[in-house]
Amino acid sequence: MITIHSTKELTSVIDKLKSENKSIGFVPTMGALHTGHIELVKQSINENDCCVVSIFVNPTQFNNSVDLKKYPRNIDRDKELLELAGCDIVFTPTVEDMYEPEDLKQLYDFNFGGLDRVMEGKFRPGHFNGVVQIVDKLFRYVRPTRAYFGEKDFQQLSIIHRMVDVLKFDIEIIDCPIIREESGLAMSSRNERLTPQQRKKAAEISKVLFESRNFATNFSPEKLKAWVIENINKVDELEVEYFEIVHTNTLQSIENWASSTVGCIAVFCGQVRLIDNIRYV
Ligand code: AMP
Repeated sequence: MITIHSTKELTSVIDKLKSENKSIGFVPTMGALHTGHIELVKQSINENDCCVVSIFVNPTQFNNSVDLKKYPRNIDRDKELLELAGCDIVFTPTVEDMYEPEDLKQLYDFNFGGLDRVMEGKFRPGHFNGVVQIVDKLFRYVRPTRAYFGEKDFQQLSIIHRMVDVLKFDIEIIDCPIIREESGLAMSSRNERLTPQQRKKAAEISKVLFESRNFATNFSPEKLKAWVIENINKVDELEVEYFEIVHTNTLQSIENWASSTVGCIAVFCGQVRLIDNIRYV
């Protein structure tokens, strides 16, 4: 595995791979890697000649400076895990290399078609603007054949699909399932910030979501939504920020059960904000 720090060096390595007609699988991450990330990496290795993983804590997608500062970072351990998984290239650029100073100040111009106005977009203003801004840059440097994203960030995945359509990238986006801890808790770099006690409480989020699926369509979406919120808020230290049952294509809330719906949730566990989602029908 080689580590590349600069876009200049990356460009020459990618040029060589392209000249050899090699397929490139790409997994963008913010580091503090866990099994959820590594599953994406393994799939990328299986399906491509070369696997590139980026590790970059992207400042423009954080609307909260404390969250950015506290975001877990552990580059040495990340590299060990990637080496073990069989990754070929790890790309760890600096903020200065990825952004011109004025890029950091102004919003990137992208038409989200409304996908950014709900859920994460509503509660984290500017978040998806930063995501699209950095993924656009990374795609132009890495020039992947396929790029791998987790369904854990369901809304992000929808937006990436739209971005590839709108900007006409010739890249196949691969949706990867949510990887969970044994307790059901969706794996997340932010779980590292939970105390052992909080981790147990946070596992209740997925328990309630799974239980809700057992009788989902017996209730109206509105009633099911209220039930989920009430049962999660009952747990000490958990506080639901939003829970929405939406159509998977439009991300708009549904009033009646339709095909292809997903329930997306954001919950504070103490100071730590966690997200998860579950497919209904
Ligand atoms: P992040 O480092 O949090 O930006 O995540 C990098 C990629 O890993 C994103 O595509 C995430 O959706 C994906 N990912 C993170 N956690 C999980 C998980 N528990 N299961 C599947 N994919 C995940």
